Amino acid sequence: TVAIALFTADLRTHDSPVLRGALDSADQVVPLFVLDDGVRAAGFVTPNRAAFLTGCLADLDRALREYGGRLVVRSGDVVREVCRVAEETGAGQVHVAGDVSGFAQNREERLRTALSAARRELRVHEAALTVVPPGAVTPGGKEHFAVFTPYFRRWSAVGVRRPLAAPAKVSVPDVDSEPLPEASGFAPGRPSPELPAGGESEARRRAEAWLAGPIDRYADLHDDLAADATSRLSPYLHFGCVSAAELVHRAVGRGGTGAEAFVRQVAWRDFHRQMLADRPVIARADYRPRGDRWRADDAEAAAWREGRTGYPLVDAAMRQLAEQGWMHNRGRLITASFLAKTLYVDWRVGARHFLDLLVDGDVANNQLNWQWVAGTGASTRPGQILNPLVQARRFDPHGDYVRRWVPELREVDGAPVHRPWLLPDAERRRLDYPEPIVDLDEGVKRFRRARGI
Ligand code: FAD
Repeated sequence: TVAIALFTADLRTHDSPVLRGALDSADQVVPLFVLDDGVRAAGFVTPNRAAFLTGCLADLDRALREYGGRLVVRSGDVVREVCRVAEETGAGQVHVAGDVSGFAQNREERLRTALSAARRELRVHEAALTVVPPGAVTPGGKEHFAVFTPYFRRWSAVGVRRPLAAPAKVSVPDVDSEPLPEASGFAPGRPSPELPAGGESEARRRAEAWLAGPIDRYADLHDDLAADATSRLSPYLHFGCVSAAELVHRAVGRGGTGAEAFVRQVAWRDFHRQMLADRPVIARADYRPRGDRWRADDAEAAAWREGRTGYPLVDAAMRQLAEQGWMHNRGRLITASFLAKTLYVDWRVGARHFLDLLVDGDVANNQLNWQWVAGTGASTRPGQILNPLVQARRFDPHGDYVRRWVPELREVDGAPVHRPWLLPDAERRRLDYPEPIVDLDEGVKRFRRARGI
């Protein structure tokens, strides 16, 4: 008998319910990845994520070869390709991870229909991408949790499953594969210069290093921009190179306040996924509409994108995004608040730019974090505005983060780097750095007026 393990956002061999499910149900397994036309048409394959994905697929193939197998790659419409491979190999079952976006839910429906027409079975593994499956905990009487703290309480009570071991042996039937893809072939454009390497091996190396020590200081340092002391595991979680359940299992085993804070943060990932699972439309539509009539100021949005707003902390974070395809969470909060509230530009404009560049760019996490910051999402303080100067004092008090990312300001010592407009005229003129594009107080007033608060 033959089963197909269809890899999607779970590009790994350790703790893989999909691969394990397929192996347990058949003598031979086709580990299949489809470069899906639909994902490409949706504009989701960007140079950064394509480069990372290429590394993930090469590494997955390498790992599968260690177990005696290999990765089978096809491109085209995912449903058609899966059916084709099933036909070619006589596979009776297809195993896939349950996923939450509208796109993924639609793919699952189409797969189910097409496979059942051919008398084949679709097996969906709901706990493959999250720690707690979306919808597994619900508040009494309501469809899903809309506030994080009560969700987290229930989430914590569920307990995390034991990670599954990597397979001992994978036997693959005779079936054609396309060559492993090159990023340049399916997402033209240059990736960010400091992009991390994709793949399960790298994910496991980083996770080991993180869990062996730095995690202990997470509670103290996670908001310190210059310390850069978060796990940086987000791209590996997005592509499923390491499972969230395994990370949480091991963090809980280590214990301590750092590990507790880390687990809570990973729970946010599950929280957003259960919201999106319930209402996929909130990837675009406001979750809690506030009657916003957003400004469409293309020049200001462009200055924001390019990191030349004249507010050094905002600009530093936007430049980190361009350089690394990643931004520190505190930076994401500050830059998103600046765009959606201080400039009062539609959060979708910012979310699109983030998705274009983030290597961890993820529909659930990106869109719902943006909504959270814009005050249209699950935040219990929708009117809160982050002032970049106050944020600078708290999270980059010496200006080290700004000097790292804004070379024009590298010669300015200490905290004054956050207010270049206060520097003596002669010094100010020497810096090739823009004036602020907005008065912060005016921005706050405009936003409050618009929201009636
Ligand atoms: P750590 O601090 O080490 O946290 C560990 C893991 O927990 C992360 O890898 C991530 O998977 C999860 N996590 C942490 N914070 C959050 C959060 N607020 N929401 C959901 N999951 C979280 N995260 C993405 O993975 N993809 C995105 O596209 C994305 N877009 C964002 C957009 C905005 C406007 C904001 C404010 C946040 C966004 N985040 C996104 C959440 C968060 O900023 C990143 O997950 C985090 O910065 C990744 O770095 P890390 O792996 O070092 O995180």
